[in-house]
Amino acid sequence: MMHRIAVVGAGMAGLTLARVLRRHGHPVTVFERDPAPDARPPGGTLDLHEGMGQLALDKAGLLAEFRALSRPEGQAMRILDVDGTVLRDWRPRAGDRANPEIDRGRLRDLLLGPLDVQWGRSVTEVAPVAGNGTLVRFADGGQETFDLVAGADGAWSRVRPAVSPATPHYTGVTMVETALDDVDTRHPGLARLVGDGSVAAYGVNRGLVAQRNSGGHVKVYAQFRAPLDWHAHLDLADAEAVRSHLLTMFDGWAGPLLDLLRHGTAFVHRPVHVLPVPHTWDHVPGVTLLGDAAHLMPPLGVGANLAMLEGAELAESIAASHDPYEGVRAFEERMWARAGKWAAITAAGLERLVSPDPAQAIALFDEVQPG
Ligand SMILES: Cc1cc2nc3c(=O)[nH]c(=O)nc-3n(C[C@H](O)[C@H](O)[C@H](O)COP(=O)(O)OP(=O)(O)OC[C@H]3O[C@@H](n4cnc5c(N)ncnc54)[C@H](O)[C@@H]3O)c2cc1C
Repeated sequence: MMHRIAVVGAGMAGLTLARVLRRHGHPVTVFERDPAPDARPPGGTLDLHEGMGQLALDKAGLLAEFRALSRPEGQAMRILDVDGTVLRDWRPRAGDRANPEIDRGRLRDLLLGPLDVQWGRSVTEVAPVAGNGTLVRFADGGQETFDLVAGADGAWSRVRPAVSPATPHYTGVTMVETALDDVDTRHPGLARLVGDGSVAAYGVNRGLVAQRNSGGHVKVYAQFRAPLDWHAHLDLADAEAVRSHLLTMFDGWAGPLLDLLRHGTAFVHRPVHVLPVPHTWDHVPGVTLLGDAAHLMPPLGVGANLAMLEGAELAESIAASHDPYEGVRAFEERMWARAGKWAAITAAGLERLVSPDPAQAIALFDEVQPG
């Protein structure tokens, strides 16, 4: 029996791990850098796949609640040409629950439930101490020792250096996120354009994607190939300057597509970084990684699903093992094999979605979308 388990990060991976550990009667301490659950906007909508995110929720005993909160109609997906012509218009069949959407904030609250997270505890370093557990150091000067530390602290993990020297690198693709509120009332034309789910258009080395969240909120992502310092002569905090830059970049696209940028509120810069593929390491007793900390990959609808499934599987593996370190090792082998496969798929997908040949994006959609 392993007594002291620390989870670093209260994202999808960390919360699922903690919930399933608790379900198996295992105490766990969760440390989160954010001072409170609502300290940052939670981000856009997520589609949870049947065999991944939904399976993890089932293992946490939360699938029925998820079904009540999720939006199966949000699976709808429309692809437009840059001139506004509708190229594909896919809608889920009645009862299709393969990939329903849920707002991240709602999913986080569902996973949080009764968990007692230590908010505002930013981890700075993790160091295994031979034969004596793993030391966790905090930005507030404190330190604590655990038998196992699970790094679920995302792309720029502070736990990762304890097992691997790998760091994320830039893919050459940047996303700039903006949002529209109350679309059904304030922008009914755009509400129809986005429909119940998502709309996307792809041009040469760029794309525009808009996704409906609940409550009439729409997230918009402008995606383009550019050097990391593309904004060197731009103040990213100046929304009008960013908007005008993007409108120039997407000049010539259909008016309703550009309206998504014209009416967007604040703009958030999200350069797409990834970890090397595959990313593995020599097992280090007392420390492991999961989620983005272990396998940061392009945001193509898989990262949160994997993060949750791994959280559930790590908890089950620990609970089922006589020797918890063996449980962690078995989990890592399984995670590496599956995540390596998805990291390669999503890297190839990003190349095709934001590519010199926009037909590649349509071909990719046809390959992954069920009939
Ligand atoms: C624009 C965009 C859209 C996406 N869409 C999808 C999608 O549709 N479907 C999908 O499956 N995936 C999607 N993803 C990917 C998904 O968001 C990530 O893969 C997922 O959030 C990873 O979860 P995680 O728990 O591993 O990491 P995170 O969600 O990054 O959580 C890490 C947590 O650790 C905390 N933390 C960080 N450092 C420390 C520290 N030093 N000490 C303590 N706490 C710390 C953070 O504050 C955070 O709460 C998308 C990503 C982006 C950027």
